[in-house]
Amino acid sequence: MLRPRSLQDQVAALLVLLTVTLSSPLLSAQYSKTDCASCKVWNAPQQPFKIYGNTYYVGTHGLSSILITSPSGHILIDGDLPESAAQIRDHIRALGFRIEDVKLILNSHVHFDHAGGIAKLQQWSHARVVASEPSAPVLSKGGVGKDDPQYGILPPIAKVKHVEVFHDGDVLRVGDLSVTAHLTPGHTPGGTSWTWKSCDGPQCLNMVFADSLTAVSAPGFKFTEHPDLLKGFEKSFAFLETTPCDILITTHPEISGLWDRLERRNQAAKPDPMIDSGACRALAANARGQLQKRLESEGNH
Ligand SMILES: [Zn+2]
Repeated sequence: MLRPRSLQDQVAALLVLLTVTLSSPLLSAQYSKTDCASCKVWNAPQQPFKIYGNTYYVGTHGLSSILITSPSGHILIDGDLPESAAQIRDHIRALGFRIEDVKLILNSHVHFDHAGGIAKLQQWSHARVVASEPSAPVLSKGGVGKDDPQYGILPPIAKVKHVEVFHDGDVLRVGDLSVTAHLTPGHTPGGTSWTWKSCDGPQCLNMVFADSLTAVSAPGFKFTEHPDLLKGFEKSFAFLETTPCDILITTHPEISGLWDRLERRNQAAKPDPMIDSGACRALAANARGQLQKRLESEGNH
């Protein structure tokens, strides 16, 4: 059974996972299966479920993918690993929706574990794919961005066709659905968090899909030598500290305690444990502390 852990422990555990991942061999040219130590764990099966209103979890157990639905089409955020794409498609179907009705695919950041499945999902759905200015060329060309702190140690992502560009603060729409793009750089130059409202009857809640905020890099890379990324982190923390936030979902679900929240909800805990208006601020505080530690450790080398 999952025990609630402190946010700090969860982030530390994720960092260990990432370190293991980063020492693994590169992805094969087919992009069908990622050869990484953590991939099997990340790709573990997960039953899809309703998070709130028209927002559903369709990802794997270790990587979030979010479906926002409407009668005139759906929005999907994140495609996870290449080998997660089929699971995501099957989850959409299991919930009674059609993959062909996904009209827009969005992304948190252009790493293989969040964007690796987008090419396949686009092929199946024919959805538009829209990305931030720094992320769009990485998606279009495939691979890893040269200005990525983890350049040189990450598996490449598959090329995505016809990638369009959005700008910070843009509202992207499908029918009556609208989601707002918030550039949250730092982990990558083009990282993006997403906000929207979901309603259950008369109660509408502020939904936040927060991008990764860990300062992880290839050996030799120093965040202290990249003021642009440090400014990016600061902007990202400020966003999380101020955005209206009722339900937080993170790219790696355990970072925001999603499984613990779901378990408590399934035990009929009241009020709904999924809702926590302090979760975004707690995430920001934790990420700020982690970055501080990283910068101090760079100063000692
Ligand atoms: Zn990443």
